[in-house]
Amino acid sequence: MTNATRALFVLFGGTGDLAVRKLYPSIFNLYKKGLLDTKFALLGLARKPLSNEEFREVVKNSVEKHAESQEQAEEFASHFYFEVHDVTKAEDYEKLRNNCNELDEKYDLNGNRVFYVSMAPRFFGMVANDLKKQRVLSENGGFNRLVIEKPFGKDYESAEELNNSLNAAFDEDQIFRIDHYLGKEMVQDIPVIRFSNPMINAVWNHNYIENIQVTLSESLGVEERAGYYDTAGALRDMIQNHTMQIVSLLAMDEPQSFVDQNIRTEKVKVLQSLNFYDENGAKENFVRGQYGESSDSKAYRDEDGVPEDSINNTYVAGKLTFNTPRWGNTPFYIRSGKKLADKFTRVDVVFKQPVVDIFSNSGLESGITNNVLTIYIDPRGGVSFKMNVKDAGQGFHTEKVDLSYLENDARAEVVPEPYERLFHDILKGDVTNFASWQEVAAAWKFVDPVQKLWDTTKPDFPNYTPGTMGPKAADDLLARDGHKWVYPEDK
Ligand code: NAD
Repeated sequence: MTNATRALFVLFGGTGDLAVRKLYPSIFNLYKKGLLDTKFALLGLARKPLSNEEFREVVKNSVEKHAESQEQAEEFASHFYFEVHDVTKAEDYEKLRNNCNELDEKYDLNGNRVFYVSMAPRFFGMVANDLKKQRVLSENGGFNRLVIEKPFGKDYESAEELNNSLNAAFDEDQIFRIDHYLGKEMVQDIPVIRFSNPMINAVWNHNYIENIQVTLSESLGVEERAGYYDTAGALRDMIQNHTMQIVSLLAMDEPQSFVDQNIRTEKVKVLQSLNFYDENGAKENFVRGQYGESSDSKAYRDEDGVPEDSINNTYVAGKLTFNTPRWGNTPFYIRSGKKLADKFTRVDVVFKQPVVDIFSNSGLESGITNNVLTIYIDPRGGVSFKMNVKDAGQGFHTEKVDLSYLENDARAEVVPEPYERLFHDILKGDVTNFASWQEVAAAWKFVDPVQKLWDTTKPDFPNYTPGTMGPKAADDLLARDGHKWVYPEDK
């Protein structure tokens, strides 16, 4: 079997929502495609007791709709084992060590272990340390990899503390910090679009680009996640991680080669050259919002579990600039929010107009508009380029045409789910699509002053209506620079 690596997966939070809804189907897809060695085992851990058989039922139900036959789902589930484990009890790790060693031997796994911590973040550091302290890590030369779910801290200080505790047990190249946006097909396409097309690569700088817009728009509200979300907000939940990662791929310089460490080097370099804001900068360059009610939708403050005087942000828009020769003053506008007009993620790259418009200089009504390159990330991948051509006919007018490529059903079908791709990368030991500590640190340092300002000043909330694209102040943020959001005008 090619490219397959045998390993034992130890999944903390084995009965959790993420595991059942996303992780098991993703591992199953790798299994079906032959990208997982048939010699693998998964040990699921959780507090509530289950027998191996009961656990395998959970797994079978989770992968059933992806299976070609009942036997296939059953064979897959037969690799799954369950252990009652309370991560707060040191004595439980001895049993874990024994189970790992037994499964290693039974499946001939060469000591390769992936520890995936899919639990509440307060447990991340504790689990990493206990794995090392209680000698659950293999010691025969096999790999030990640690996978950490989000959120990675709630500010720079807590993230640094968490990172220090992970580093006490694992080296940076053994730590895989999940940002599932990095597993998305079109996010991975950003470097390809930039660096494999000389025509695009040549103009990817402040001389030709007027501004870049990144939008992560959700149409749902807070749903059942109020407990977590009200202490996080859109800035921490969507901007610090996913949005900043997308921005780094858009802004970085060309890596020396397309291997993980070189890509990380460039991402870190560009994130560290952001113009970091003080309180005044945060006030000027960031907009927060919270959704109110509409005829068919509750206000955020009326949602279950949300305090009626919550000042939590469900919407963020911001302006970023980089202190690099490539970018000069070119603004990157970012926004993300809940209960917006639609669910989608896209990048709009707005190019400058010609330095001289020879058509209007000649007295013609030229009507030239900015070229716009749009990268559609969700729900359907694609790319479009808007350019000016002459309008057909006798007179002289220009019109905007759209060269567009949208992923068809056949291609969408073969695009792997983000978690499937990320699991495969973990097995290969490829950290390209995971956030490095330096990237996470720079992103926290950038958003911290904004959060601090918002924690200490009272907003005028609610300030946007469900089904719109957020508060008016977000439009004003761009209008101040003479710019405007490409979406929704160009849907
Ligand atoms: P969950 O609450 O559904 O599951 C938590 C799991 O942890 C359960 O299996 C539970 O038994 C186990 N657990 C709790 N306390 C324990 C203890 N003391 N010892 C051992 N096991 C214990 O959580 P979830 O939604 O699956 O989220 C898991 C992680 O994934 C979190 O970090 C979350 O932020 C992240 N995440 C989840 C989603 C999602 O869609 N659910 C999306 C993105 C990120």
